[in-house]
Amino acid sequence: MRILLVEDDLPLAQALQQSLRHEGFLVNHVNTGEDALTSLTMPDHDMVILDLGLPDMDGLLVLKKLRAKKQTTPVIVLTARDTIEQRVQGLDFGADDYLIKPFDINELLARLRVIERRLGTADSAIISIALVKLDTTAHKVFIEDKELSCSKKEYMVLKVLMENAGRIQSREQIESRLYDWGEEVMSNAVEVHIHNLRKKLPEKFIQTVRGVGYTINKA
Ligand code: CA
Repeated sequence: MRILLVEDDLPLAQALQQSLRHEGFLVNHVNTGEDALTSLTMPDHDMVILDLGLPDMDGLLVLKKLRAKKQTTPVIVLTARDTIEQRVQGLDFGADDYLIKPFDINELLARLRVIERRLGTADSAIISIALVKLDTTAHKVFIEDKELSCSKKEYMVLKVLMENAGRIQSREQIESRLYDWGEEVMSNAVEVHIHNLRKKLPEKFIQTVRGVGYTINKA
C-alpha cells in the first residue's frame, strides 16, 4: 500500500512517515499542492493523506482537481479547521474521510485500515500458495507452518509476487514497490532478493520469465 502524504508541517510529516512506514506502508511525501498534483498524475498511489493548509494552494483545490480528473484514489483530509462547513465541503469534494488536527496517530491508522479493507487490499489476509504461507498482518512467511527468516525487502518481493500470483511482474514493477522516493536503488537489488528467496523457498516456486520478469503460479 503506497501512500502520498501531502503535508507542509515538516516535523508532523516526519513523524507520520515514521509511523506509517513502521506499519508497513510505503510513503512518498510532498510539501505543496503543486507537487501533490504532479505526483498524482502517476497512478502509483493507493491512498492520499492531504493537509488542507498548504503553502501554495488550498488542499481542497487539490482534491477538487484530482476528482475532476476522475481520479478515485481515496483521500483522507487533515485539517485544523474544524468548522462544520469545511468538513462538509471536504466530503462534498470527494474526500473519503477527515481528521481534525491535532489527532492521534492511532486514529489515522485506524481510518487507513478502514479504507484498506474497502479497497480489498487489507493487510489482514493470509496468502497461501503451495506450501508457502504469507501472513500479511504479522509480516511473516511460513513454509509448512515453519517460520522462514527473511529480510523486510525479501518479504516485500515475495508479497508482490504472491499477491499477483499467476501474473508476471517485471523487475521495475517489483522495484517500485520496494522503495520510497529518493531512496538509493541498487540496480540488481530485485535479482539479489529473488536469489536469496529462492535459496529458502521450495524449488521453482519463483519462476523467471526470461526478458519479462518473475512469476509465481497460482495454487
Ligand atoms: Ca499545513
